[in-house]
Amino acid sequence: MTNDNTMRMTRQRQVILEELKAMHTHPTADELHRRVRARMPSISLATVYRNLKLLAEAGFITEIRTVGVQRRYEGNVDDHYHLTCVRCGRVDDAPVPADSDLQEAVNNATGYRVLSHRVEFLGVCPSCEKSSTQNPTARSGRGNRVSYKQSHNRKEFYQ
Ligand SMILES: [Zn+2]
Ligand SMILES: [Zn+2]
Repeated sequence: MTNDNTMRMTRQRQVILEELKAMHTHPTADELHRRVRARMPSISLATVYRNLKLLAEAGFITEIRTVGVQRRYEGNVDDHYHLTCVRCGRVDDAPVPADSDLQEAVNNATGYRVLSHRVEFLGVCPSCEKSSTQNPTARSGRGNRVSYKQSHNRKEFYQ
């Protein structure tokens, strides 16, 4: 038996959890801190960080870590995939169901009892894409986009 869910829910922690769940986005600790401060003006960013870490460890929230991008958090703990913009760091939910076949395939191909899996899609978000087409000097070529898609094709996962 784990004591995951017996974590003491302090008032600060409760407010952080409520505000995060109300956001339906993937805020950074900074963004969440700004929001929580409206209710608890004296709360520090360090306190928000510490509580986010504890809430994530206890499974109340999800911590989204992508290499080279600021850590983000969300109140949704259901299995789902994320899309990260490589230009601005924005994170969105990928509107596709989690692939249980993929997990099963890895489970069957290895000695692991696979418990969960994470898939991170990297790309350029619509607003960054729009601003780069308006500004031709910052434009990413069509060829780059195609190779992004190819490198994230699931077939490569099995090769
Ligand atoms: Zn972007
Ligand atoms: Zn999400």
